[in-house]
Amino acid sequence: MASLTAIQADITTLNVDAIVNAANNTLLGGGGVDGAIHRAAGPQLLAACRRLGGCETGQARITPGFDLPARHVIHTVGPVWHGGGRGEAELLRACYRESLRLAQQHGIHSIAFPGISTGVYGYPADQAADIAVTTVEALVDEPNMPQRVLFCCFSAADLALYDTRLRRQ
Ligand code: ADP
Repeated sequence: MASLTAIQADITTLNVDAIVNAANNTLLGGGGVDGAIHRAAGPQLLAACRRLGGCETGQARITPGFDLPARHVIHTVGPVWHGGGRGEAELLRACYRESLRLAQQHGIHSIAFPGISTGVYGYPADQAADIAVTTVEALVDEPNMPQRVLFCCFSAADLALYDTRLRRQ
């Protein structure tokens, strides 16, 4: 049985097989968690991302973690929130699903997700937490999926949202 846990931490410090980056379509770095990951991974990460040539919203790409404790970074591009009527929920589900598919293909046993789209992209944190937990729960029992999934929250308020949802299991 997979373990799903919420923690409050800086995702760049986590000693897991892969951390997920809430990137933008260029994959060339930005603010928020993306900036923190690039700073901690070092310049080789930007060079590796350049070779990928961007990423569509809802898709995911994988690179090494370079100077991070995590061996891999899975870069996914969340939707910008426009009020919910522009397919945002399906795109956010796709981010979690495609990140887990890459983890499955790369033998990743432990993975940490940030709150994709819940910073600058403006996705309501409670709805995003619902999508994160339900999408991961629906997939983790497939063969070769990571057996340790961390929802890495930056704030205590976000941690409370995840803890409420995980207790309902
Ligand atoms: P997006 O553009 O997808 O909204 P952001 O980076 O602006 O991405 O925010 C995504 C989430 O990541 C937010 O909940 C933010 O609080 C959180 N966050 C920012 N920095 C870190 C970090 N170092 N570790 C974990 N989470 C972080």
